[in-house]
Amino acid sequence: MGEEREVVILGSGCAGLTAAIYAARANLRPLVLAGKMPGGLLTTTTVVENYPGFPEGMDGFSLMSGMQKQAERFGAEVRFGEVESVDLSRRPFALATDDGEVVARALIVATGAGHRHLGLESEGLLENKGVTYCATCDGALPMFRNQPLVVVGGGDSAMEEAMYLTRFGSRVFVVHRRDQLRASKIMADRAKANQKIEFVWNAVVSEVLGVDAGRVTGVRLRDVATGAGRELACAGVFVAIGHVPSTAFLKGQLELDAEGFIVLKGGTRTSIAGVFAAGDVADRTYRQAITAAGTGCAAAIEAERYLAAQA
Ligand code: NAP
Repeated sequence: MGEEREVVILGSGCAGLTAAIYAARANLRPLVLAGKMPGGLLTTTTVVENYPGFPEGMDGFSLMSGMQKQAERFGAEVRFGEVESVDLSRRPFALATDDGEVVARALIVATGAGHRHLGLESEGLLENKGVTYCATCDGALPMFRNQPLVVVGGGDSAMEEAMYLTRFGSRVFVVHRRDQLRASKIMADRAKANQKIEFVWNAVVSEVLGVDAGRVTGVRLRDVATGAGRELACAGVFVAIGHVPSTAFLKGQLELDAEGFIVLKGGTRTSIAGVFAAGDVADRTYRQAITAAGTGCAAAIEAERYLAAQA
């Protein structure tokens, strides 16, 4: 049997690190496996303006490194590493990580969600060569300055990305597959009022152009109503079509819904007693830093009670 822990937390975003603070303060010496993106999605944003307690905003990276230090101060161990597979039919639960096996009496899954991709071959070939999933991370790069840019999507993320990109691009085209936005009214109105943003309705990107050049030179669009194709020149493609929960390693082990989100059974409880879920991995609705932190706190409290009841 591998290294034994009372509580293992998978993921080091707002949900995972808040769970770690609470579990550590309950003397459970939690192990946090930091995952693919240590610090989570917030480390890819600039200023976080809606996290309570910071009236002037706070940069995402500092917020997350503060949470990590706070968890460590109370005895949490944050380790770089990822879980590869789990066996939740055993007790304690067995976790195969890239650094050996760990067993846990209670497990908190806070692995979050990754960016949804269009699924085009050309998209993959041009990733980081003009195709990106994060305007705040990459928008200011010289390759995008004073160039036409394309944002794909019709939700709040697409509106936010498009508005941010108007600082850098010469023009920002928002390509959406319908003729109505999914975005909230306030975000949609702001984007529509922005002179630098142009909407391309009822269109999907069928190919990202520029593979031979080694950088994005444009997109091929297909009109979903007529099937007609056309090309639009651009230097960047910002894909903002939602997120996919990071739960591939849980398939067949824990109840997931059709899109892979963990199904909750009241509070942060999952289909398996002793396994709790927090943050975006189980949230289709709110997906905010503060709600992730809140459910991380709840998961740690529920894990603590579960362990106490087992003793
Ligand atoms: P979302 O609301 O799920 O929107 C995804 C958009 O991408 C939709 O317009 C969808 O089209 C489109 N889409 C999905 N798959 C596609 C595909 N394969 N090809 C082309 N288009 C595709 O995701 P989100 O914008 O990331 O927002 C997620 C949550 O975070 C929401 O609750 C949102 O309110 C919140 N959020 C809030 C803020 C803010 O308030 N500042 C900022 C960002 C996000 P359809 O509309 O046709 O389905």
